[in-house]
Amino acid sequence: MSLRDRIEAFAADKVLQPWPIHESGFMDTKDIPFDLATRGACEKNYCGQYGRTWACPPGCGTFEELKAHFMDYSNAFVYTTVHELEDSYDIEGMSEGRKKHAELDDAFATFLKDEPAPHELCDAGGCSICKKCTYPDAPCRFPDKMRRSMESTGINVMSLSKILDIHYINGVNTVTYFSMIYF
Ligand code: SF4
Repeated sequence: MSLRDRIEAFAADKVLQPWPIHESGFMDTKDIPFDLATRGACEKNYCGQYGRTWACPPGCGTFEELKAHFMDYSNAFVYTTVHELEDSYDIEGMSEGRKKHAELDDAFATFLKDEPAPHELCDAGGCSICKKCTYPDAPCRFPDKMRRSMESTGINVMSLSKILDIHYINGVNTVTYFSMIYF
């Protein structure tokens, strides 16, 4: 079974997903909207992750380095999850949704862990593999498993959603999280 077939198998099987994939799509990496301005927004630290792990700026590398790294892959699979909120100020609900999305990422990564073909997962909010990241005192413990956030690589997620015809927003009082697997 090819890696693409395995990705499709996971995406089609809700039993394997601790939280269901809402929408998804495959694309060529050459169509990914890498955008220096998005990386600039990431560096303004709206999410609070700047300088906290090796997977976010500045530790993750420059925009040019990351773009070159990910352009070495030919394909990407993008997927979303959707989470209900009490209202648009429901920070706790957003954080709970992010946790559930991360559980799905973990299940996906575990499903593909014996896959010999190169692949790499980028997630919705930076790397949370270790309870406490080694940044900046020691090298990353798991450089092969580290998950960079899509924004830190400069991906304009709104443009990406339009290219794939995936909803960026899924109605009032919901939050939508994105991840992608390069392969
Ligand atoms: S794998 Fe661990 S050490 Fe490496 S970036 Fe992620 S949290 Fe930090």
